[in-house]
Amino acid sequence: MSAMGAWVVRALAAAALVALPLLLPEFAVTMLDYVGLATLVALGLVVLTGVAGIVSFGQQAFVGLAAYATALLTTTFAASPWVGLAAGLALTLAAALLLGAVTLRLSGHYLSIATIAWGIAIYFLFGTLPGLGAYSGLDNLPPVRVGGFAFDDARKSFYLIWGVALLALLAARNLLDSRSGRAIRALRFRAGMAESCGVDTAALRLQVFVFAALLGGVSGWLHAHFLRFVSPYAFGVNAGIDYLFMAVIGGATQVWGAVVGAGVVTLLRDWLRDLLPRLIGQSGNFEIIVFGALMIVLLQRTRDGLVPALVRCWPKAWALPRAATAARASPASPASRSSQTTLPTLPRRAPATPGTPVLQASGLHKRFGGLVAVADMSLELAAGEILGLIGPNGAGKSTLFNLVSGVLAADQGEVRLCGARVERQRARAVARQGLARTFQHVHLVSSMSVLENVALGAHLRGAKGPLSAMLRRDRAEEAVLLAEARRQLERVGLADHLHEAAGNLALGQQRLLEIARALCADPLLLLLDEPAAGLRWGEKQALAELLRELRGQGLAILLVEHDMEFVMGLVDRLVVMEFGRKIAEGPPAEVQQHPAVLEAYLGGEE
Ligand code: ADP
Ligand code: MG
Repeated sequence: MSAMGAWVVRALAAAALVALPLLLPEFAVTMLDYVGLATLVALGLVVLTGVAGIVSFGQQAFVGLAAYATALLTTTFAASPWVGLAAGLALTLAAALLLGAVTLRLSGHYLSIATIAWGIAIYFLFGTLPGLGAYSGLDNLPPVRVGGFAFDDARKSFYLIWGVALLALLAARNLLDSRSGRAIRALRFRAGMAESCGVDTAALRLQVFVFAALLGGVSGWLHAHFLRFVSPYAFGVNAGIDYLFMAVIGGATQVWGAVVGAGVVTLLRDWLRDLLPRLIGQSGNFEIIVFGALMIVLLQRTRDGLVPALVRCWPKAWALPRAATAARASPASPASRSSQTTLPTLPRRAPATPGTPVLQASGLHKRFGGLVAVADMSLELAAGEILGLIGPNGAGKSTLFNLVSGVLAADQGEVRLCGARVERQRARAVARQGLARTFQHVHLVSSMSVLENVALGAHLRGAKGPLSAMLRRDRAEEAVLLAEARRQLERVGLADHLHEAAGNLALGQQRLLEIARALCADPLLLLLDEPAAGLRWGEKQALAELLRELRGQGLAILLVEHDMEFVMGLVDRLVVMEFGRKIAEGPPAEVQQHPAVLEAYLGGEE
């Protein structure tokens, strides 16, 4: 039923879309055209704000830039609307790159305020720049033509606008369900973890920003040639707030939410604009107040917007396929057939010869204000060795991990990875050289599936970017990356949870997920920060067995762990830290008897 059902739903939706403008009265078709135009902008915001967490009140500026560019070219310079499109998008791209480069560095509220500022600036620019018709704008734009066909009324424009909107919706859905999409979905809450997986989060934020701006630009171009005129009023700050409203109302994390949000806001606004002044007996923009109230109710009742609430009422079997389609593609597709018989595998790094040094840290210092967290720490770890790092809480173990993995910069000291200096490098560069890690406080994208979370670990082993993803030219690579994620999940014993939301796993399982994610990077050096915390006895045994196997394959493993039974039976050597310093080092049996260690442990909280 499910595959058939989905196709029936799709075919019906397509038929309805084609028939709609022929059946509805002209004014209703015009409204739907407006909904389509708004959908494009709201869709950009769904990806930018809802998914990546970058709040912009200024999308109308990009809509306006493209609209004015095409208006000026096609009226004053009598160019074709297609030239207007190219110029409008080029201008939008340039503006987005410039604004993005300047403002994306700002964090949180400052960024949002910057978007309001540029929104206001551009509104006055349109109103005052000579040659743009001041506040009455530019009119007499030509319609868009394809061959001899002119999209010159609301019904014809419907097909153009909704054709473009559907393509954009599909492209956005494809984008989010891809290698880049996983990284984008990590941006909002887990940018640091994504960097440790090798993602260039700054570049990715800019790419997402440009993507949303270009969708605004396309909407502006369609808007200009649909209305056949442009004026600054369509691109004021109000419009920017409306677009954000649409993204939130629809459910800011789902691409189809953009349609729902654009539809609800556009139609409701139009209806309230008529109704409220009649009810109240006065003219005014009362709909703004109603919208404000609606937003509050919505955020109270269904924090994720309308779409998730609707989906809950929707028959399960009709649900549109969402994430990880490559992994579950129909058996007929060659990629998934091979993943069921012989898993496609990724090329692997040349392993280090057992015994050669993989990690050499010396003289590391780190101070947080007046607190010395790590002082003069040195470590050596060879391929095929497990080194345990123990010490009381607050001894500096996690800080040392952060220094070694490039998450924090050391005040002094050096770190070598397979001989190469890395202490000045950022986490993603260190990851590229073969370091993978887990975090003491689990870092995962809770709304993403277990499989996708783990596939993020293989980020550096893929190469396909956002453009390939939107065009679905990444399916072969995706199948291989997801197969690798599945293989590592099977290894840590999570094969039964592939498609569950990662946030639903028990804490111990989330730790295993992080190990699988780290293994997906095919590392030379594995840093595990308290991996056995929260695991049951049997799970600990299985984890110890896995770590022994990895050691046998030549991996170097640095392990922080409080469970002494787990550590003693597993590690080759122990380093003990207290107050940021090394107080003992050696084989477990020896270290156990070391007077300083006995003092630290027995004299301490235990
Ligand atoms: P451990 O992992 O051994 O329990 P940590 O490395 O987490 O210890 O912490 C070492 C010390 O540094 C602690 O006193 C902790 O409070 C402090 N510390 C850790 N991270 C920070 C930070 N980002 N800012 C300020 N102090 C920190
Ligand atoms: Mg710690």
